[in-house]
Amino acid sequence: MSYVKIENLFFNYGENETLKNISFNINKNTVHSIIGPSGCGKSTLLRCFNRLYDPSSVKISGKISIDKVYDNILSNRVDEIDLRQKIGMVFQKPNPFPKSIYENVVYGLKVRGIKNKNTLLQKCEQSLIGAGLWDEVKDRLNASAFSLSGGQQQRLCIARSLVVDPEILLLDEPTSALDPISLTVIEELILNLKKKLTLVLVTHNLNQAKRVSDYVTFLFSGELVESLPVKDFFTNSTEKKTQMYINGFMG
Ligand code: ADP
Ligand code: MG
Repeated sequence: MSYVKIENLFFNYGENETLKNISFNINKNTVHSIIGPSGCGKSTLLRCFNRLYDPSSVKISGKISIDKVYDNILSNRVDEIDLRQKIGMVFQKPNPFPKSIYENVVYGLKVRGIKNKNTLLQKCEQSLIGAGLWDEVKDRLNASAFSLSGGQQQRLCIARSLVVDPEILLLDEPTSALDPISLTVIEELILNLKKKLTLVLVTHNLNQAKRVSDYVTFLFSGELVESLPVKDFFTNSTEKKTQMYINGFMG
């Protein structure tokens, strides 16, 4: 049942111990949220899944494995380019390339040497459909990505990740820069995407965590407080920190 296993993960930036002995599991085809007050280490944890940190300035130990894919993501033997294909990431602020909509979507294929026009067009359409953007852009694939609204740009970034068929999509507060309507669209998309892949979502929005998650992992000050099915977390937790956090008494 466990698909991703995080075991005894420690992470330091210099002297600061940012993640302290984190262990939990993530199940396949679920939305797993990571929540907690600002500065508790959510983004740092998320970035461990695709090694998006400067290895020369951090200290990291522990293990992250993905069933049938990687024994340990953190091992130097795992190629970063390969890893970031299998584990895509979407950030808080949409970050399309200064290129056309089409070129943004097919970028990950082109850098891997795929040149066949039909293949590229087909994958572009598939990914845009997957990201719920196709109908809005199918008549202007050559327009600049910057001509899209913020919410559309965020879905374009999701399409750009989907084009290389990732196993996991990491989302770091993907709706916090968006208007409420775009937020709803992205939340519906997240729920749709879990049929195909596994999503790890960092959010500081508790209502969002309630609406879209299957599981919640709660971090406080670099430590894991608990990792539970969403319903248990919000209704049955006996942890004092959890109760304070969900009742709004901290960060
Ligand atoms: P969150 O996403 O929960 O707000 P972060 O993972 O961004 O938390 O940060 C956790 C802690 O690590 C904070 O104290 C932050 O200042 C520190 N931190 C984050 N990134 C860096 C970095 N590149 N270098 C040094 N410290 C960092
Ligand atoms: Mg963060």
